[in-house]
Amino acid sequence: MRTLISSFFLALLFSCTTGNDHVTTSENHLLLSSTGAESIMKQQSHEVISTALDKLNSKVSSALLAPIDVPLPTDPGGGYTHEKHKANYSAIKDVGTLYLLTKNSEYFDFTRAMLIEYAKLYPTLGLHPQQKNQGPGKLFWQILNEEVALVHFIQGFDAIKYDLNTEDSTFIVDGLLLPMVEFIRDDSERTFRKIHNHAMWGAAAVGMTAMVLNDEELLLDALYGPDHDSLCGYFAMVDQLFSPDGYYSEGPYYQRYALMPLVLLAQALEINRPELNVFEFKDGVILKSIETGFELSDCRGYFFPVNDAVKSKSIETPELGYALPIIYAYGGKQSKWIDAIAINGNCMITDALVNIGSRTEQFARASRFISDGADGSVGGMAILRSSESCDGLTSVLKFGTHGMGHGHFDQLGLQVFAEGTPFITDYGASRFHNVPQKEGGRYLPENNTWANQTIAHNTITIGKKSQHNGNDGAADRSVSHLLHKSFSDTMSVIVALDSSAYSGSQLLRYHVMLTLNKRPYLLDIQSVKNRESLPIDAPFFYEKSLVNSDPVLKYETTSLTPLGTDAGYQHLWKTGYSEQTKSSLHTWQMGSGFITMYNAAIQPYSTVAVKTGANDPNHNLISTEGLILETMESRHQAICTIFEQHGSYDPVFETTQGAYGSIENLEINALDSGYKVTLSTNTNEKYEIVLNGDIEAMHESIIKIKQLKDE
Ligand SMILES: [Zn+2]
Repeated sequence: MRTLISSFFLALLFSCTTGNDHVTTSENHLLLSSTGAESIMKQQSHEVISTALDKLNSKVSSALLAPIDVPLPTDPGGGYTHEKHKANYSAIKDVGTLYLLTKNSEYFDFTRAMLIEYAKLYPTLGLHPQQKNQGPGKLFWQILNEEVALVHFIQGFDAIKYDLNTEDSTFIVDGLLLPMVEFIRDDSERTFRKIHNHAMWGAAAVGMTAMVLNDEELLLDALYGPDHDSLCGYFAMVDQLFSPDGYYSEGPYYQRYALMPLVLLAQALEINRPELNVFEFKDGVILKSIETGFELSDCRGYFFPVNDAVKSKSIETPELGYALPIIYAYGGKQSKWIDAIAINGNCMITDALVNIGSRTEQFARASRFISDGADGSVGGMAILRSSESCDGLTSVLKFGTHGMGHGHFDQLGLQVFAEGTPFITDYGASRFHNVPQKEGGRYLPENNTWANQTIAHNTITIGKKSQHNGNDGAADRSVSHLLHKSFSDTMSVIVALDSSAYSGSQLLRYHVMLTLNKRPYLLDIQSVKNRESLPIDAPFFYEKSLVNSDPVLKYETTSLTPLGTDAGYQHLWKTGYSEQTKSSLHTWQMGSGFITMYNAAIQPYSTVAVKTGANDPNHNLISTEGLILETMESRHQAICTIFEQHGSYDPVFETTQGAYGSIENLEINALDSGYKVTLSTNTNEKYEIVLNGDIEAMHESIIKIKQLKDE
């Protein structure tokens, strides 16, 4: 094991570079410099800075009111000592930052006293008593929390370091900072060498500490891995975990979490090691990841729940409070990012805010495709939006990487949002984050038995089994493909293919946002071709009130049975069913109006109404309703779905208009290659839509729409 830089030299370093005369010209800081602090205080009335200062002041005043308590770590996530240490590391960073901005000695005293208390405690600690099978910490039950703590401690230390006397700074470095670095880099080497968001926090913690301690060897460990061979470390992770479009393979929820260490270390490097040109790395992928992270949200700002997502996370998340000023400052100072910073509302004060301009442009989300995979060739995520404003439909189609241990078996899975609220939804993760009564907030058993199974998603399930038979390794090795993408004002089209999720089966999904006679429709076709005849289920899980079904659903009235015995089916109660049909419709009242889902298929299907909650002895599942279009054994099925928003509904004035949708007849037929969809409306318009089925030629011609004359 390499020895760490001696604190004796550190003490020398501090005393000779700073002394006690506050020579500001030689001051070197991580994210907020002394000159930056001065300049930001001169712009205090700027809306972004004044909001950030108000929030910082209020956080700091409540931190200062509480007596300093650095308890012996005993509790798991959600427990007292866990939450106290989290609050403490945030306070050290916040109060330290405010000290740099104001030079108020009370803030210096608090930050110093806290760090001294931690430096007394840390060397006495063994592994956390609540350690579980994941890498354990000392202050916390998981190494991940320990890494996050160091990222905060080092910012607090950085803010006061030049005003600490040599004895204190040596005590903090030797008692807290270096032992934490050793614990993260050496004792938790398995985590530190991973290509994973936990390791990203480790790299940021060690890298930022290295810069504050001027330890070049340590910095190389963080950037290029402990052997300096780039097999792990910060740059290997940036290269492998983010696609060229800046998509993080575990999904938006984890993208948000990986973003903070990613951008904090990047900004510290840009300020302290500008020769590395970190923002140029992999064609500017770090800034792209911020943009992509922000755009992976619905128009109200909630992140699209993909994989093990906690659904209430929005763009107000503090991680973007660091990231958005960075894309503004280092990405060409575009005014739309000031709007995004204002919307986020949790902006962190760093040098990125120096000379911030005024908000003259609004941030608008557009339809786009985001590539996945380290080289961008592993499918991706398509986001189609019917309008820039928040009154239309937004759909998300996922066909990228599986997402490792947090991945769900949801290739070609769909989510639809209407008026910015979830309509056709993904269950997300089965856990109650930070709720001590629910296993301390950890993932619950139903995360595996239900939430990540294919039937829990709005995508085809073949043979009543999950994709890849529920095997994460097989899913991680497989690839989905983008066959076509095109975007225009009147029509956006995505076609995605997966031929590995089920061996012997080809899944193709056409997804089109189009306007017919000024009315927007979302057209979706799921095509399945199986080598042998197998049952095919197409689920649609929904939020809001289902008010009409045709053919009618016959609901169970006295008793329920589970829909199956495994692959997630065991958690579904069968609550109703319809007769067999080749077309159907369902209408929901939602928001200020209605939405109708029209379906048609080339083979007959029956609709099964389901609700989660079966085989759930601890009431862990959140009640969710769905409709499953169930096809008996078949080798070829194609299900056409059209979503239409219509009508208006006003509960205050008790008025309803246009409660029925405009499509009166919908049919789909298989052609030699591709499909033909025919639809007619209640205003006597008739359309024929032909979709190309030649996988090799889809980039050229994909869709032809023709309005037919009355017969
Ligand atoms: Zn999912």
